Amino acid sequence: MRFGLVAHRLHRQRVDGALVRWARACEDDIRTLGLGLHAVGGTYDALAGQQLLSGASLVRLPSGVEGGVMRLASCIAGGLTPADELDGVIYFIDPVDPSSLYPETQALKRQCVIHGKPFISTAAGATEWIAVELAHAGKGDAGFASAIGKQTVALIAHDALKTRMVDYASRHFDLLSRFAMRIGTGTTGGLLNDLAWSRGWPADVPWVTRYLSGPMGGDAQIAELVLDRRCDKVIFFEDPHVARQHEADIQLLERAVCAATYDTTCFNSPATAERWAAAVTA
Ligand code: PGA
Repeated sequence: MRFGLVAHRLHRQRVDGALVRWARACEDDIRTLGLGLHAVGGTYDALAGQQLLSGASLVRLPSGVEGGVMRLASCIAGGLTPADELDGVIYFIDPVDPSSLYPETQALKRQCVIHGKPFISTAAGATEWIAVELAHAGKGDAGFASAIGKQTVALIAHDALKTRMVDYASRHFDLLSRFAMRIGTGTTGGLLNDLAWSRGWPADVPWVTRYLSGPMGGDAQIAELVLDRRCDKVIFFEDPHVARQHEADIQLLERAVCAATYDTTCFNSPATAERWAAAVTA
């Protein structure tokens, strides 16, 4: 398994920054997994400077200015030869770094969503994902899942993916019910409450606390909860194939998640949410 790796300046410059902290904490597990990391220039150099991940298979890609992030987008889509293909991306995003808005960054995330590959954008998510892969490899026990009972999860789906969300919630109803609280945008939340009530959830208790519909401000409301550390995980089934009238709201929510980098995780596609659930319930 091979992942792309990028860290914005904020996260790679300091020795106590997110990249170095993650690499130190996960170094042994990354080696155990045999996870190859293809790191964009400055990120590779930051790791090499600290002599981190030296035993792991670490490949240096060109820097951002030389097209490193652009190449990652192609490799997520399959690359030019089978040997180029990557299985996901860990991108420590600083939402006020201008390159977080560059087209190649957007395209990289979009290709991950389209190909159902993880796009892990926070420090908390990067640590969790290593544990997810360890559990899948039969080398760990998804210990992170013990926190679920104290956490709040947001469930959001664009129109074309609402059926997938209801199906996901139906198959993982017990797991999602373990969260201390579930929140959602208006329409998605309504569908999920109907599902819960059809399964015997108490009729006077909503399974999901609903906010406004996404385009009417629900994404922004959930972003505020993320910023307040009142939402720990966002499961957002995005439709990458249509022009989205509330694109700004969608990005606002994803950028809020990155602002809460040590506390919040986000999955953007059914495949990634499925892989996480399978690791927790294994
Ligand atoms: P909805 O919002 O659940 O109200 O449709 C989802 C979104 O588009 O963000």
